[in-house]
Amino acid sequence: MNSDVELIKSRTNIVDIVGEYVKLTKAGSSFKACCPFHSEKTPSFNVNEEKQFYHCFGCGQAGDIFSFVMEIESIGFRDALIMLADKAGVELQNNFSKNEGESQDTKKRLYNILELTTKFYEKQLWDGGGKKKVLPYLRGRGLSDETIKKFRLGYVPDGWNHANNFLKKNGFENEIILQTGTIIKSDKGSYYDRFRNRIMFPISDVLGRVIGFTSRVLPGDDESQAKYINTPETYLYHKSNVLYGIDHAKKEIKQKNAVVVVEGNMDVIASHESNIINTIAVSGTAMTDEHIKILKRYTNHFILFFDADAAGQVAARRSALFCLDADVQTSMILLTEGKDAADIAKTNPEELRDIIKNAKNVMEVFMDIAEDKYDINDPHGKREAIEDVAEAMANIVNDIERGEWMIKCAKRFDVDERLVNNAIQKIIEEKQKSQQSFVQDTQVVQMSKSEQSQMQRIYKSIILMMMAYPHVWEHIYNNKEKYGQVVDQKNISVLMREGPECGFSVGEFVSNDSSREQLYKAAMNMQQKYETEHEDGGSPIEDTETYISIAMENLNKRRIEMLVNKMDEAESNGDYDTQKKILEQISKLSQQVISNK
Ligand SMILES: [Zn+2]
Repeated sequence: MNSDVELIKSRTNIVDIVGEYVKLTKAGSSFKACCPFHSEKTPSFNVNEEKQFYHCFGCGQAGDIFSFVMEIESIGFRDALIMLADKAGVELQNNFSKNEGESQDTKKRLYNILELTTKFYEKQLWDGGGKKKVLPYLRGRGLSDETIKKFRLGYVPDGWNHANNFLKKNGFENEIILQTGTIIKSDKGSYYDRFRNRIMFPISDVLGRVIGFTSRVLPGDDESQAKYINTPETYLYHKSNVLYGIDHAKKEIKQKNAVVVVEGNMDVIASHESNIINTIAVSGTAMTDEHIKILKRYTNHFILFFDADAAGQVAARRSALFCLDADVQTSMILLTEGKDAADIAKTNPEELRDIIKNAKNVMEVFMDIAEDKYDINDPHGKREAIEDVAEAMANIVNDIERGEWMIKCAKRFDVDERLVNNAIQKIIEEKQKSQQSFVQDTQVVQMSKSEQSQMQRIYKSIILMMMAYPHVWEHIYNNKEKYGQVVDQKNISVLMREGPECGFSVGEFVSNDSSREQLYKAAMNMQQKYETEHEDGGSPIEDTETYISIAMENLNKRRIEMLVNKMDEAESNGDYDTQKKILEQISKLSQQVISNK
C-alpha cells in the first residue's frame, strides 16, 4: 500500500489536484485560495508545491493530496486512493480484503454503469432511432454536433428494457443498476427502464463523472405529461448540490472570476454554444447553500440569469437573498417575459454576451422591480417598495456595502436616509429575535461536559438501535408523543422526519446522504453486538425505550434544577405569579421523572 501511495504522489502535483476544485493564485513560492473548507473572503488557504501539501491558516485544515480529496469529496481513504490512482495512471498493487473494499467497489461500479449507460444513449442518438427523431430537433435549436457531443446528449428508444438489457448484457445485476436510478423496481418485483423514448442529458460532477440524468420528452410528444424526468436521489446523485455544466465551466469561471447561473440545461448548452463558457444551471428552481458553497470555491461573483415570468422572479429573489447572505457579489439579469437564454443564444449570441456583460447589481434590479410593482407617488406604495428593497438590504453582510445601498435607495425613492435605515434595522431586529428565540430553545438545558458526553452516548445508542432495527424506528415514530423532547434531538429528529419517506429502510436513508455511511456502519456493528449479547433475540424496542427514558430523565432533572434557580430569582423579586407558574412546571416534570422509573 505504501508503495502505491508513494507512486501516486510522485506522479501527481497537488497544485493540479487542488486546482480542479479551487481557484488557485500564485503567491511567491506557493499558491493561495479562499478555503474550500470554511467560509472566508480573503484567502488563507495555502498550497505548497515544493512540499506537496496544503494548509489553511483560517481553520487549520492541512494535509496532502489524499486528505484533500477525502475531505472535499467526502470519501474514505480507499476511495481517494482509487480515484487518485486513476488520475495518476497507477495500477494499485494491493488488493483490498473483500469487506474493506466493498464500499468503493460499489461506488466505482455505479460510476461505471452510468458511464456505460451514457455511451449507450449516445449511440442511440447518433446511430440509432435518435438520428431521425432527435438530432434534427437539437440541430434546429442551434446546437452544433460538436456541442451535442461535448455535453454527451443521447436518446433512449421507446420500450421498457433498452438500458436494462444493455447493462445486464454487460454483466451488471438488477440490484446494482437500481442504485443508479436508471431502472425502477415494480411492486411485483420486476425491473424496467425509468427513461423511455426521451432525450437524455447526462449530469456530471465537478470531475466530469456522470452521476445521473435528466431527460426531456420528445418534441411533439405529449408535453403536458412529465416534460422532464430526472434521476431520483441516489448514492451518487444529490439534487441539492448538482450544478449542471460545472465540469465544462469551472476553468472559465476561475479565469473570468464570475459564474453565470441560468435556469435550464438547454440554457447552459446554448450559452456554451455561444462561447459563454462560465455558465451553469441549478437543478430545481432556486439555489441552495450547498450550490453556493461549491461555486464559491471558484469565484465570488455570481450573475443570476432568470426568466422574468412569475416563477422565475420568485426563484431569482430567493437565490439572490441566499447569495447576499453568503457574502457573494451578486448581479442579476431578468429577461423580458417569453424569452430565455437558449433562444437568444440561438438567434443572436452577440446580444447574449452583451446582456451578460451589462448585468446589474442585484440591488439595482430589486429597486427596478419595486418601482415597477408599486405606485411610488402614493405614500403606501412607496412604503411597500422600500420595505421590499429593505428586506434584501438586510441580507447584505458587509456594513459599508449595506450603507451605500441604503443611500442609493433613499435617493431613488426620494425619502430620508434615516427612514430607509429604520426599515432595514427593523427587519434585522426581527431576524435576530427569531434566531435568538431559536438559540434559547435549543439551549434551555445547559449541562456540564461530562453530562453532555453521557447524553451523547445515550442519544447515539437510540439512533443506532433505530437504524439497526426498522421496527424499532417505526415504533418510535408512531409513539413519538410519548418521548418528550428526546425526539427533538438533532439526529433523532432527522430520523423522525425521513422515516416514513424512506419506508423506515436504513439502506434508503443512507443512500439519501453519503455522510450517513459512517452511521450505517456503526448501526450494523451495534446490531451484531446486540445479537451476540442476546441469544434469544432480545427486545430491541424495550431496550431502546429504556435509553429514551434515561435521556428524558436527565433532561427533566436538569430542567428542574434550572427552574429552581429561576424560582429563587422570582422570589427575591417578589414576583409571585412567576413563582406559581414555575412551581407548576416543576411538579409536572417531577411526576414525569417518577413515572419513568
Ligand atoms: Zn479554512
